[in-house]
Amino acid sequence: MTSLPTLAAHEEHELSLLLSGRCRRCAERLPGGTALRGRPCPRCGEPTLPSAMDRAALHELHGTQSTVRLWLAVAAVTAGALVASWFPLVNSLLLAGALVWIRFTIVRPGLTLLTPRRRIVTRWTLRLATGCFLALSVIVLELLTLIPAAGAVVKTVVSAGQVAAAGGATRSYLSWQVGREGRGEPVALWEVALLAVWTVVLLAVVAGMVAVVLWILGKLGLLHARALQMMQEARP
Ligand SMILES: [Zn+2]
Repeated sequence: MTSLPTLAAHEEHELSLLLSGRCRRCAERLPGGTALRGRPCPRCGEPTLPSAMDRAALHELHGTQSTVRLWLAVAAVTAGALVASWFPLVNSLLLAGALVWIRFTIVRPGLTLLTPRRRIVTRWTLRLATGCFLALSVIVLELLTLIPAAGAVVKTVVSAGQVAAAGGATRSYLSWQVGREGRGEPVALWEVALLAVWTVVLLAVVAGMVAVVLWILGKLGLLHARALQMMQEARP
């Protein structure tokens, strides 16, 4: 699975302990950033990852693990969308579910590797960016329900693509932060400033999303009423 063939089984086990934020010897939970900074375990004093090569290996293992989890999410959304995409709002709910899955299986383990300051910036950047993405995706998916030609297949492809894009961006961003942590680079000021920009964008897109969903619900109501009316008129 990993592209590190030189790793022995026990080393891989120790790395996966570190990957889940635990000491490779006593399995005690480590404070954020310990392994990537190569600091010793505060409980047993075991040096976590003394060499830069080991830290690079941890970074790579983190990338491999999150890729597998991302593809699971894409597969699940594709299957769900194929079965139920004729129903309004189902695709949006599937997408929201996939983003929650990404949050718990990819983002959370990644965050445990980071030092507190970087963890806060990374967590909030991802939260706000994911919120913007979800709101935009709901707009696109729900507008698609109004186009009769855009059948289940189109909606399935669009939602699978959205999960892949959101997960891919999340993964790359986390991996970038994990890499910076490993090299001991500090959090840049522009990363903090970017949070304010994301907040403004999020407010704007959420307002747009609410407007679109209300408009579509109204339109569906109208269509429904007209269909009923036509059925009554068709009766002898
Ligand atoms: Zn320890």
